[in-house]
Amino acid sequence: MKPKIAIVEDEPQLVGILTYLLADEGYEVVSVLRGDTALATIEKEKPDLVLLDIMLPGTDGFELCPAIRRRTTAPVIVLTARKEQEDIIRGLELGSDDYLTKPFNNKELVLRIARVLGRSRKEATSERIGYGELSLDQTTREVTVAGRPVSLTPTEYN
Ligand code: CA
Repeated sequence: MKPKIAIVEDEPQLVGILTYLLADEGYEVVSVLRGDTALATIEKEKPDLVLLDIMLPGTDGFELCPAIRRRTTAPVIVLTARKEQEDIIRGLELGSDDYLTKPFNNKELVLRIARVLGRSRKEATSERIGYGELSLDQTTREVTVAGRPVSLTPTEYN
């Protein structure tokens, strides 16, 4: 099945470009032009990744990002026309996985989407075993005690 991307963006021209670009890259694309209807669409469509604009009619991206986070495990990439550093930092603090400032390079967007999706897939398939404060990830072979990483040799790990 094709990974599905939800675009939350109010500029129809940009939505058109992104839809074409991402469909060409093998993604299924759904789009919403308003912030206040975005959550309903995301809940219905269950995308694998959300591209989220900040300045939106209805509800803005700052408000939407944590709301999306509460409803889905899909990673969020913020697309913002605002270049101010503090807005970007705020976007990341709200739980977006990555951000791009407009105008962005199409290739860069495609690469970042692939990277973020790869990352979220890895998290979804990682197999963690917990015992008390000890946690062990069978995929990455990472061991933590009370949240702190412990470095072990392969023999010690086994
Ligand atoms: Ca906008």
